[in-house]
Amino acid sequence: MPGPPNRLLFGISGVPESSPKPSTEAGIVRCRELGLDALEMAMVQKVTMGAATAARVRATAEREDMALSIHAPYYINLNSRDPQKLADSQQRILAAARVGDLCGARNIVLHLGFYHDDTPVATTAIIQRHLTPVIETLAAEASQAVLRPEIMGRVSQWGDLDEVLDLCAALPRCLPCVDFAHLHARHGRDNTYAEFVAILDTMERRLGRRALDDMHIHVSGIAYGKKGEQHHLPFADADFAYRDCLRALRDRDCKGLVIGESPAREWDVQVLQRTWRELGDEAVIGGGATVMRDA
Ligand SMILES: [Zn+2]
Repeated sequence: MPGPPNRLLFGISGVPESSPKPSTEAGIVRCRELGLDALEMAMVQKVTMGAATAARVRATAEREDMALSIHAPYYINLNSRDPQKLADSQQRILAAARVGDLCGARNIVLHLGFYHDDTPVATTAIIQRHLTPVIETLAAEASQAVLRPEIMGRVSQWGDLDEVLDLCAALPRCLPCVDFAHLHARHGRDNTYAEFVAILDTMERRLGRRALDDMHIHVSGIAYGKKGEQHHLPFADADFAYRDCLRALRDRDCKGLVIGESPAREWDVQVLQRTWRELGDEAVIGGGATVMRDA
């Protein structure tokens, strides 16, 4: 299992639209042709990948030098009142993490639950209690999985920045999936250079430098209203200040995976990657003096 990358790698969620075949293996090859370095496998309905396929995916990813991650099923709610739904949710997380160990995907992205009638603080405590046995099982199995509770975009969903940081501070094996689009949709802010830097500094203060050295990031344009997220948008149709976001990531020397989830998929993430390189060139020309340029 490869550890965290020593730089920021860009990729997409799901097999590229331009892949000749819909299989993960074909998707990895197509990502490499596109110059992308990461692929998030969208196991959002159900984890169905068997051991034989996982072994082929691992071999293909190693050959193509592709970092893999997994988005676990949407049907997880660790704040469910129904014991069966709770047990099923725990099993879905385990299933995703186990396939991750087989195919070499280290980061397992999780939507962990809903508030229902509970306060945010109470919900975090309940989710923590129900995630703990999952983490203990993974430890007993010597799993390499890093669980990535995602910042969620709807106000009914558990997963504001502070809640995700609280959970990750309390539990081993957990680091955030920082979804900048969701955070923006949730609050209508968090879309300027200063705000992006503040998010990163909060992460470092709460979780230590490892939080920035080993990031998992989702980006997209997004439509939002009073209840938060409505749907994802291509960058061209949205207000996502991606250049400022990338400048903040560069100025804080962030490392890890950036997964594009815009409906324009591989094309938008290539825009990001190009912008990232331009910012690097500017930094070299400017003697690295981009830090806090606008602050
Ligand atoms: Zn997600």
